[in-house]
Amino acid sequence: MSLVVGLTGGIGSGKTTVADFFAGLGAAVVDTDAIAHELTSARGAAMPAIVEAFGGAVVRGDGGLDRAAMRRLCFSDPARRERLEAILHPLIRRESVARCERADRAPYVLLVVPLLVESGAYRDRVDRILLVDCDEALQIARVMARSALSEDEVRAIMATQASRAERLAAADDVLSNTGARDELRAAVLILHRRYVELGRRARPAAADGGARGVPGENQKRS
Ligand code: ATP
Repeated sequence: MSLVVGLTGGIGSGKTTVADFFAGLGAAVVDTDAIAHELTSARGAAMPAIVEAFGGAVVRGDGGLDRAAMRRLCFSDPARRERLEAILHPLIRRESVARCERADRAPYVLLVVPLLVESGAYRDRVDRILLVDCDEALQIARVMARSALSEDEVRAIMATQASRAERLAAADDVLSNTGARDELRAAVLILHRRYVELGRRARPAAADGGARGVPGENQKRS
């Protein structure tokens, strides 16, 4: 399997922007949020279990999940959220592992996991952790600029996520996203070159004649 770099960061930090830059350079991107959307779209693999657990009131006319209805249900009852997560999380994990394995021709895989630092299941599956970091004020401003959320609502979401300090402590690499997009793009290019090299060294001997090297200072996957 290719080297797997786990990309994480708080809400609005710039994960999607960064993942798009990496994808443009040739990395294989596996995005757990995108997988969650696919699983809960019309005819998505999670829908039968969701309908069984929550009934038809959380299903849109086209058969996909009515996110707003589901959010309202979970808001009033945390046990429901746990039930939904118990359905979704194993499916997301299984699908993301399958996609990482299928990407074995890519120089490396970027596995996008918003709550990677919070989740032991993913920390154990990645070779290194890349954090997109920016200060909280910028996070809030960016999320408010692109959604209808109020500052209090953004702060409430941030309170459910790891703190900036916790994320920084867990990261092997950090991309600071406090400047312009072009600065971010330039920093991504430098990291991309590094990951290509680490990915080459990490390949099994049969693939390119080299021994599997050490992917990261904090190598997680056995
Ligand atoms: P979420 O956690 O909500 O999925 P995210 O971490 O994927 O968010 P993005 O969607 O990449 O973050 O970025 C959040 C918003 O900030 C987007 O509207 C994006 O276009 C904008 N943005 C990201 N980086 C920059 C930047 N360096 N300069 C200006 N705007 C930016």
